[in-house]
Amino acid sequence: MITVEEAFIAVEANSARLPSETIGLSSAVGRVLAEEVRADVDSPPHHKSVMDGFAIRAADIAAGVKDFRVLETIVAGGLPTVEVTEGTTSRIMTGAPMPEGADAVVMIEMSNLGYSDSTPPTVTLSVEGKFTAGKHRMARAGNFANGDLIFAVNHRIRPVDVGLLAEVGASEIDVWSQPTIAVLPTGDELVDCRLLPGASQIRNSNGPMIRAIANQWTQQVTDLGIGVDQKSDLESKINASLKHDVLILTGGVSAGTRDLVPEVLASQGVKTIFHKVKVKPGKPIFFGVAQRGEGGRCYVFGLPGNPVSSLVGMHLFVATAIRKMTGVAQTALRPVRWSSVLSSDHQTRGNRPTYWPGRRCDNSDPRLVQPLPWNGSSDLLSLREAEGLIHFPVRESAYRAGDTVDFLPF
Ligand code: AMP
Ligand code: MG
Repeated sequence: MITVEEAFIAVEANSARLPSETIGLSSAVGRVLAEEVRADVDSPPHHKSVMDGFAIRAADIAAGVKDFRVLETIVAGGLPTVEVTEGTTSRIMTGAPMPEGADAVVMIEMSNLGYSDSTPPTVTLSVEGKFTAGKHRMARAGNFANGDLIFAVNHRIRPVDVGLLAEVGASEIDVWSQPTIAVLPTGDELVDCRLLPGASQIRNSNGPMIRAIANQWTQQVTDLGIGVDQKSDLESKINASLKHDVLILTGGVSAGTRDLVPEVLASQGVKTIFHKVKVKPGKPIFFGVAQRGEGGRCYVFGLPGNPVSSLVGMHLFVATAIRKMTGVAQTALRPVRWSSVLSSDHQTRGNRPTYWPGRRCDNSDPRLVQPLPWNGSSDLLSLREAEGLIHFPVRESAYRAGDTVDFLPF
């Protein structure tokens, strides 16, 4: 049985980035850039005022000039027509281009209050405090210049990035393709969650949960219904779904007499990369790869049927494969880990590292994490409170409040 570390290495080594595609900016969030994005304009495009006020020569203020002849009014979107010279000014609005000759702006609040465009065009400016050239003026290209690198390849686009992309005209961008993911829970005892389970039946909770997680990664998630624990049914369903980039099965991967998934996968040409990882919960997890005719591959994960086992498999290994496929940088492939401090004692048993539902419990100390009461791999109720998984490596002694542990946020 391989370790979690070995399983991560195997997932990273056996999955590959998908080709790129061009998409519109409105669907860019969460996607990873397959091209660098450079500015095609200067920002700002001209020297501009960052205040509503009066564009002047700072030298006039330094020389003690107070009364200015007003030449014109320049609005954002307009263009100045006359040069500002000694003793003159142009009224200017925030964002408007600075006129020739002017090198600073006096705020409207420092002008005589009676001023308006309709009164004789003079204004008295009473400047307080330090005032030098460049005051309230932003230089052309002060933010960035035409040709500057805005985003490097492999940057994952967040909602806040969309404004900057729009500013540089990146209305269409090349990103790494998202995988198509098919989800097939298996088990004779499973019924659709819309139904009331009969004797010895349970609802298929994994399927909806796994599809919901997968929906965070891709818009292309296919629900394959429920597979029964029979070779013929599994063969036909698996065969039909290897056309997807990723196939996620749950159930039927451990040692029971009806656990047929690994052998059916092998019969359908899926090469086993690993089966069983030293981890709790989720030990029987399977990972394999099927080569497709046209050169593509289908990555197949067989997750153990218990919902929290499936969740751990998704969070650790499936997510890592998806990140690799979607172009995430090598250093960011694995789940995020926060070095944290246990808020209470904790006893783990057995010889496998455990991923235990937990939450942060003290806003004044975000490093403090609390292991939640949890009945094991079938217990989804505890997860209601959970914000992530606490990693407890195997060790001889019990864990004590104050011990350092890693917390993997969902
Ligand atoms: P298995 O991995 O098939 O041995 O299943 C392990 C446990 O998980 C059994 O108690 C199953 O009833 C349960 N289980 C399997 N599949 C699901 C599912 N889709 N939703 C909820 N529980 C499941
Ligand atoms: Mg089963």
